[in-house]
Formats: sequence, C-alpha cells, structure tokens
Amino acid sequence: MSKITLGSPLSRLRKAGLTPYYINKMKKLGVHTIYDALTYFPFRYNDFRAQDLTQVPDKAKITLKGQVSNHPYTTTYGYRRTILHVRLLTNGYQVRVNFFNQPWLKNKIHFSQIVIVYGRLSVFNNQYQLNAQKLLSGKSAHQMDAVYPSSHRVKQTTIRKTIRFVYEHCHNLIKTYLPSSIMQKYKLEPEPKVIHDLHFPDNMLDERLARRTAKFNDFFLFQMKVQSLREEDKKHQGVQIKYNPTILKKFLDNLPFKLTSAQRRVSGEIIYDLAKPIEMNRLLQGDVGSGKTIVAAIAILATVSSGYQTAIMVPTGVLAKQHAKNLSKTFKGFGINIGLLVSDLKPKDKRELLKHIADGSINLVIGTDALIQEAVKYHHLGLAVIDEQHRFGVDQRQALRMKGHNPNMLAMTATPIPRTLEITAYGDMDVSVIDQLPQGRKPVITKWVHLKQVHQLLSKLKNIMDAGEQIYVVAPLVKQTKHSDQNMLDAETIYYTFQRYFGQNGLLGNYGVGLLHGQMDDEKKDHIMSDFKKKKFNILVATTVIEVGVDVKDASVMMIFNADHFGLSQLHQLRGRVGRGSQQAYCYLIADPKPRSTGVKRMQVMESTTNGFKISKYDLQLRGSGDIFGESQSGIPSFKVGDPIGDRVILECAQQEAFKIVEQNGWQKSPQNLELVHVLRIKEDTKILD
Ligand code: ADP
Ligand code: MG
Repeated sequence: MSKITLGSPLSRLRKAGLTPYYINKMKKLGVHTIYDALTYFPFRYNDFRAQDLTQVPDKAKITLKGQVSNHPYTTTYGYRRTILHVRLLTNGYQVRVNFFNQPWLKNKIHFSQIVIVYGRLSVFNNQYQLNAQKLLSGKSAHQMDAVYPSSHRVKQTTIRKTIRFVYEHCHNLIKTYLPSSIMQKYKLEPEPKVIHDLHFPDNMLDERLARRTAKFNDFFLFQMKVQSLREEDKKHQGVQIKYNPTILKKFLDNLPFKLTSAQRRVSGEIIYDLAKPIEMNRLLQGDVGSGKTIVAAIAILATVSSGYQTAIMVPTGVLAKQHAKNLSKTFKGFGINIGLLVSDLKPKDKRELLKHIADGSINLVIGTDALIQEAVKYHHLGLAVIDEQHRFGVDQRQALRMKGHNPNMLAMTATPIPRTLEITAYGDMDVSVIDQLPQGRKPVITKWVHLKQVHQLLSKLKNIMDAGEQIYVVAPLVKQTKHSDQNMLDAETIYYTFQRYFGQNGLLGNYGVGLLHGQMDDEKKDHIMSDFKKKKFNILVATTVIEVGVDVKDASVMMIFNADHFGLSQLHQLRGRVGRGSQQAYCYLIADPKPRSTGVKRMQVMESTTNGFKISKYDLQLRGSGDIFGESQSGIPSFKVGDPIGDRVILECAQQEAFKIVEQNGWQKSPQNLELVHVLRIKEDTKILD
C-alpha cells in the first residue's frame, strides 16, 4: 500500500485505531481526508485555564484551582435532586462550590485535595459561590477546549477526539508551504505551529496569531488554485468554434424582439472568443431581467452549428425545466435537440437520455448538477454554460469543464460584487457585462408594509388580477414546526388565508391560488409552475424555490412575507421575478423588523433603488448581522477561517502574493515552491474521493 499522505482518506488510519464510527461522522461534516481533518478549525474555545477569582466579573464562567477545605457532603431538594457542597480555598479566599445533581462526585473529592473546577461564579452576601458544571481532571486543567462547527448532530467530543487522533498520528506530515519571503513580509507563522495552535492553543495570543496566518493561507491557496487553473487553460488547445454566420443571422432575425445594444456587444465578445482556438472562460454579468438567457442561446447555436455539443447547468429543477421549455421554442427550426437531465428521471428514461447524450444525438443538455455525475458522458462538448453561477462552487465549475476536452465555459450571474471580491470569486475568468435592461421596462415600485396593514392591499390585488395579471407570494418557511421561529409566517398558512379570500368561493372573488415549495417532488413543482404560467390560477404562494431565474411574463406583483429575514441579494432576486413585461410591477415587503435594526435598513434600501450594483454595495455594508437567510446568494465564496468582507486587508495581500507567484515562469518547478505545489494538489485529491 502506498504511503499515507495529507491527501489520504481518514480510513487509512483505521489500522492505527480510528474506528469507522468516527470516520463516518466526520464524513457528514465534509471531512474526508487527513488534510481536511487537520484544517477543520474551531470557531471558538471553552477556556478551562485556572483563573484568579478577583479578576473576573460577577456571573462569569471561570475555572478555579484550590484546596478542598471541608468534608464534602450532599443535601437533597425537590424530587431526587442533590447538591454536593464543597469548600474551596483559592488565593486566600473561601469559595462555596455547589455541584448540582452529580452525587457521584462525592467519592472523587476529598478534604485537603487540590482540585480544579469550572462553573459560574457569583458573589452573594460578600461570599463567593460557584455553581460548578465540571470537575476537571489534572490533565485537562490547563487547556482550552476547541469548539468546532458541527451539523448532522455530530458531537463535539467526536470531532475533538478525531482531530486529536489525526494530529497525533500525522502531525509530521504538516509542512510549511508559504514561501519564506512572504512569511517574513507579513510576519506569518510556520504551518505546523498554525495547525497546532488553532486546535490546541495554550493561550489566546497564540491562537490569534495562528488564526491570522490561517486566514492568509485560506485566501492565498484559493487564489493560487484559481490562478493556476487560468494558467492551465491558456496552455490548452481549446475547442475552436467555426460557427455558421448565416444561421446566426437568421436566428436573430427570427427573435420576437431586438437585442439591446448591451446584449449585442456581449454576444460579440463571446462569439469572438469561441472562434479562437483557445478555450473561452467568461463570466457574463447582468442584472436580473437583463436578458442573459438569449445571449447564452446565441453562443449555444454558434457552437452547435459548428458540430459540437452544449450543456447548461442550473441550480434548480424548476429552472432547468423552464429553460428547456423556453429554449425549445426559441430554437424551433434550428436543429437543436434538447435533453433535460434532472434528478427525478425514471431509470429507464435516464438510461435512454444518457445514451443520446453520449452518442451526440442530443446537442443541448440542460440540467441541474446531475450534469456532472460520473455516469454522464458527453459527445464533443464544445460549450458549457452555468446559469446562476454564484450558486455553484469553483469545484463544480471545474467538474463540468472536465466533462469535455477543454470546452468553452460561459458562467452567468446576476449578482454584481465589488472588484476585490470579484477577483476572489471569478479571478480566473474574463468578464462581460450587460449594463442595460430591455426597452420599455418600468422599474418595479417597491413598498414596505407592516403586517397589520396587509389587508389594505387586498383590493389592490383584486384589481391587478382583474386586469389579467398574476401575483407571487413568498414566505420564509414551508410550515411551522416547534423548532421554527414563531414570528415567521409559513407558506401553508398564507396559502389557506389567500384561499379564503381569492380561492374557490373566495370572499373577494374566485381567482385560484396555488402552492409551491421545496419539499414537493420535482414532478409536482413542475406541474404547478406550468399551471401558473398557463394562468390556471392567479396567485402562487411559494417558498424561495422561485428565487432564481423563473420567468413568468404576466406576473406583476411580488409580495414577500417576513421580508426582513432575507438578505438584500435574495430580495433583489425575488423582486426580479416581476416586471418582465411592459406593465407596471409592484413589490410589497411585509415586515416588522426591530427598530434601528439592519432589517429596517434593508427595507429602506429596497424601497430606494432597483439597481443591483447599489444593492450589493449596501449588502456588504450591512452584513455581519447574522440573522439573514440566503448568504449563499451573494456570489462570494466561503472560506474555512477567512471572512472575505471582515478580513479584506488580508484577502488583498494574499491575492497579490498569489498573482506574483503565478506570474513567474515555471513557478511549479522552482524548489522553493515544492511544498506549495504539493498542497495545491491535495485539494484536488479531495474532490476525487467524493
Ligand atoms: P436574466 O438575465 O435575469 O436571466 P432573462 O434571460 O430571463 O433574464 O430575460 C428576461 C426576460 O426578458 C425574458 O422574458 C426575455 O424573453 C426578455 N428579453 C430578453 N432580451 C430582451 C430584449 N432585447 N427585448 C425585450 N425582451 C427581452
Ligand atoms: Mg436567468
């Protein structure tokens, strides 16, 4: 068997004694390799170092070391509840230590013994009292317990034990990979120390210094990865698209509208790239409703006309189906054969579809991330489009690219982000911008409304539906459970309320109300969406499944309940679902945020502008409140320890240094970059394991 390396899966430590229980639990947290485990960093620490009780405020948690000055005894209260009374002499003070409901400790604590206890300190009648939570053994007495991010009910002790185990067996594999000039310049620390001090710090200063380096590493490695991808691309002989200009012209002449000049400009940039023998790697940025789909369609037609296959990857099944439907209309008579690859296909249909994708009889594959599954084999993939790119990671983008031999890539996003972060997120791509909306669009009128005023909107909604227009109603939850925030309204309750007013025999008329949410299976969602498009009903109550890309021309009202629980980018996306036709559209934000909270500011920003750039700027300013959904909407990649907004200065330095390295010819071969190249490889190994 080969040597164990940082990129080895945790299962390689089985022989050493790491049991499958731990390995599987860690998998749930996305920790697969030794490297993953070593860099799975805590976000805070429980401080168990002994402290001086005169130095901490009343009611603080504290660890005390002292001598037991009584014979501990137990009293009872209530039903089988006990208190163990211990007196502790520490620094010349007497402290009454009470252990609640841990009677077994009586046999462990004896008169005159030195013990360390942890709990909450209070001062009562000039007398110190400690409500003890833990009796600490001598071993754990001088340390801080790391607290790790967890999900799927993986316990802290499981994570701690695994990481301790991996560290003890593998710490000699950890090597410093930052070039020493960079370390000196920014006073960064060697990697073995960083990893040790983040998991097992002796004090908070060590921890802070280690974290500073870890943040730098985080940004630096990400950018190295992005930039080396870019370098690789440039070397490859890409797919060259010798498109047929006559077909393209005919297609444009057939469109029901004229392209905006911005659409024409970016289509030109894309076509020009496609025709070159190097592969395209381009980001198409344009606000919601600016018409990115048609630009992608032009690129697709050009590619197919030159004999290659194409693919579009989107974040949701609803959106995939919408694209398939719309594009089959758009491409009618142009020989584009569309295959829809989503997760809910019947096995037989899926086999059939995969066959046609592999033999090339399908020349446009549309689907969710099912597109990058192992089983999907393409036939001369010449162009891969990623819609709503900010919903995908660099790795997924790369996985789609690997499905062909250096196909051209076109990523599309509505979320503009500031320049520094743009380099972070899309540093490997060229950027085209659609900075103009199609003519005749009126900006959506946005109003912030308190919940108790909602009934005043009802007659307005009625008028709108009488004019043949449609309404979206969005709620943050599908249904209330005992765990959910009781202040939040759920889609089901709202649905029944609207039914009462506008459903069959409704109080205000008979319009029809539909319900759509993420817990429905794809077939059902699909059905409801298409009924809504066909106007079988006028009101669609939904969760945020409709947030991205969905396009219904006659929808002119977007009503969002508990709007203050959403992030600005997400509100902007939701609002972008209306105002796509020529009628005046409205967005009602139903919200009762706390006075002076960021929720209030977000409502005000939404009322004051429809400009996506301005909104994303405010979004960054208002962040950090931690109470909003949809952070992943922002288009900013997430990091292990670095926060691209809070740690902007570190981000910029790390980014610059990465740029400088890849600019040097043959940097991969230089001896001083040996470990760096090694670490960049590990990250790739991780992917293969999944
Ligand atoms: P997004 O950029 O948000 O993906 P879409 O591509 O879905 O936007 O386009 C929004 C709507 O605008 C669609 O209904 C589309 O048909 C329409 N559209 C696109 N380009 C134009 C244009 N030049 N003139 C008029 N309507 C257009
Ligand atoms: Mg779109």
